Amino acid sequence: MSGDDDENRAWDFGFSRTIRNGELPMLAEFIQIIGDPPNMEEAIQEDRREWKPDNKEIFTANSCYQTIMEGGIQGNTTDFPYKLVWCKDIPTKVSFFTWVAALNSIPTLDMLQRRGHPLCSICFLCGAETESDNHILMHCQLSFQIWLSFLEGFRMEWVMPGTILQLLSCWEKRWNNIKENFVWKVMPFAIGWILWNERNARIFDNKIRGKEALIVEIKSCIFLWGTARGVFKGIFFDELVTSWREKIHCM
Ligand SMILES: [Zn+2]
Repeated sequence: MSGDDDENRAWDFGFSRTIRNGELPMLAEFIQIIGDPPNMEEAIQEDRREWKPDNKEIFTANSCYQTIMEGGIQGNTTDFPYKLVWCKDIPTKVSFFTWVAALNSIPTLDMLQRRGHPLCSICFLCGAETESDNHILMHCQLSFQIWLSFLEGFRMEWVMPGTILQLLSCWEKRWNNIKENFVWKVMPFAIGWILWNERNARIFDNKIRGKEALIVEIKSCIFLWGTARGVFKGIFFDELVTSWREKIHCM
């Protein structure tokens, strides 16, 4: 805070760099939220942290969870498919990535553009369209072909939803055997994770893999996660890759 009389009192944030024009609306909103600086002469109590959702004003995970579920922190969140995003059969980092993707917040070029970075937003998987979360993970020509190659074994007509959140929200389904159920459950995570890694490999390592290599990589992911759960007992990885339909869908 700077200034010591009522009229000249103002917040002194001490930002490490100059605020950019594109960030000014956020700063204005922030100042509106925190309000005017307090009069320090009137402030006789020492600063302390308070956690309003709990009666004792002490933070607990339980009170935080209850508040979120009641829509008390960021609007109504009860529609978010938490159970599908936080899947115990996959690594936490993949769940976390999917959660961020479902909120359209992975650092794609269009997201960085929206934050004021002067970048050209072209998808590195197809080189044809704007890069966004939904495009890379679902609608890109390459991504969609990969989705189809896995979906055709499930014998269903598929129309890709508009967003990752919509996809997750309609994903729960039961199949005839344990392997199909497992593959169906972890498939969106494996496909999304491998596509995102491929996108990063193309940008940062200048390495490009084609559709078939990516499909093998996704099967490898699923095999690894399933083996840890005992789903693929008695099946070798090369058998699974070469005879996917036979081993998973019993065709
Ligand atoms: Zn693309």
